[in-house]
Amino acid sequence: MGSLPFTTSDLQTSTSGVLSSPTLLCTPLMGTTVDQMLIEMRKAKEIGADLVEIRLDCLRNFNPLQDLDILIKQSPLPTLVTYRPVWEGGQYEGDEGKRQDALRLAMQLGAHYIDVELEVAYDFNNSIHGKKPDNFKVIVSSHNFHNTPSAEAIGNLVARIQATGADIAKIATTALDITDCARIFQITVHSQIPIIGIVMGERGLISRILSPKFGGYLSYGALEAGAISAPGQPTAKDLLDLYNFRLIRPDTKVYGIIGKPVGHSKSPLLFNAAFKSVGLNAVYLHFLVDDVEKFFKTYSAVDFASGCSCTIPHKEVALKCMDEIDPIAKKIGAINNIVRRPDGTLTAFNTDYIGAIDAIEDGLRELNGVSPGASPLAGKLFVVLGAGGAGKSLAYGAAQKGARVVVANRTFERAKELAEKVGGQAMTLAEVENFHPEEGMVLANTTSVGMKPKIDETPMAKHALKHYCLVFDAIYTPKDTRLLREARETGAVIVYGTEMLIRQGFEQYKNFTGLPAPEELFRTLMEKHA
Ligand code: NAP
Repeated sequence: MGSLPFTTSDLQTSTSGVLSSPTLLCTPLMGTTVDQMLIEMRKAKEIGADLVEIRLDCLRNFNPLQDLDILIKQSPLPTLVTYRPVWEGGQYEGDEGKRQDALRLAMQLGAHYIDVELEVAYDFNNSIHGKKPDNFKVIVSSHNFHNTPSAEAIGNLVARIQATGADIAKIATTALDITDCARIFQITVHSQIPIIGIVMGERGLISRILSPKFGGYLSYGALEAGAISAPGQPTAKDLLDLYNFRLIRPDTKVYGIIGKPVGHSKSPLLFNAAFKSVGLNAVYLHFLVDDVEKFFKTYSAVDFASGCSCTIPHKEVALKCMDEIDPIAKKIGAINNIVRRPDGTLTAFNTDYIGAIDAIEDGLRELNGVSPGASPLAGKLFVVLGAGGAGKSLAYGAAQKGARVVVANRTFERAKELAEKVGGQAMTLAEVENFHPEEGMVLANTTSVGMKPKIDETPMAKHALKHYCLVFDAIYTPKDTRLLREARETGAVIVYGTEMLIRQGFEQYKNFTGLPAPEELFRTLMEKHA
């Protein structure tokens, strides 16, 4: 719904890079007792939150005067008090008058903020008119658990909120698609009053991380995974440590990995640490994308989706959104790395083949010494097992280096098709086991045989391995596959799938930034988080 021709290129974000007041990080407290909340607020401070949201509706046996006095006075951080009724997605089911009395009491006891629902905000704000302490602010909130309305409808909503006398507007909508966040970014940038713009749900995650880019008043970060007060809420720790929330400014460039699913990707960890290590004003996000074309059309600003990694299931479909494609990536028919040029056009690469071939070349150099000039793969007999995405990368990559390529695959037709394309020879998996026209061949497994959980399987019998001087396995879970163990035992040099993974990351970083990748940092992080 609400698909306006709005794109992020319409956004006039400040380029000064300095926000008048930085976006605050608020941690909701969901404890069911006062004691639990007291523990939680100390933890929130330790983690680095700026304020805590006391969710009164979570408390069992709530005693307003006594409990609020303790919670507000003993909080080591400024407090936002919320008493969310069931009709707005909270847990409070009692009398409305008592609920609002508790909020007024919170104000009198020194809470810094209270959150009041739009539904009742006008009357509530009238009731406290002229009684508001200094430095106390009312957040008037609206929650939509179904969708994100059109930009126009959201604009009207903010106007209604403003008309209640709100100090701060909070709009929380639900993302049905990642492009829904763009409308919240737009309203956040253009709002006349301070605004908290949140798009709930997994597809709305970027709205929470990028609040500082668009000038949001605050963003919510959970105390721990699972203890969330709204769908899609990240932890405060992830916001701070994984996404470098404090470093995000209006002119921060936004990168990310496009995929579905994508939450498991470790790429944000690597790239954000790398950006931080060299002081690059950039952030790298998880982009949970359903429709790649819509994504690139919506996020078309030069500093948004400035560079993207691309994973399953979009490696092929993303091709049609590109203005330029690296010739080998085009032949492979799959891309995993997209760079937005300063003129806004998109150029795509396939760094998988570069990473794998680079690692194999280094393995051969280790074996034969370095001979300058030609690739050590030139003239080699290079056997690729598999003809899927990774198989194509290896076959094209090896052929480009002048190797003589053989493709063997379970589905022979696919082997034939790929072999023809790279000017090589096709065979079945059974045939390849007895194929040894010469010694010192190179073997690259790109089938998933031997991958977790079936780690006892191997795509090639051990006795056949003795004809190979180097064996590469694209599988990286586990790192040391049965194929690689047996190849090592037969005396071959082995090259791990993790090398392909990490080196394709180096290439992506170079394409994104024009800088050499911080290789040691990438390796350390990969090992720590493998
Ligand atoms: P894919 O496109 O689905 O291709 C899978 C390949 O494995 C096909 O050739 C398929 O043969 C073959 N295969 C699957 N099950 C088999 C079996 N039981 N016996 C024989 N052959 C079988 O997948 P992909 O993206 O190429 O990935 C393949 C492997 O490479 C995965 O383990 C993946 O994790 C790994 N990989 C690693 C990296 C890295 O950076 N290290 C990058 C990409 C992929 P059919 O054609 O007959 O189905």
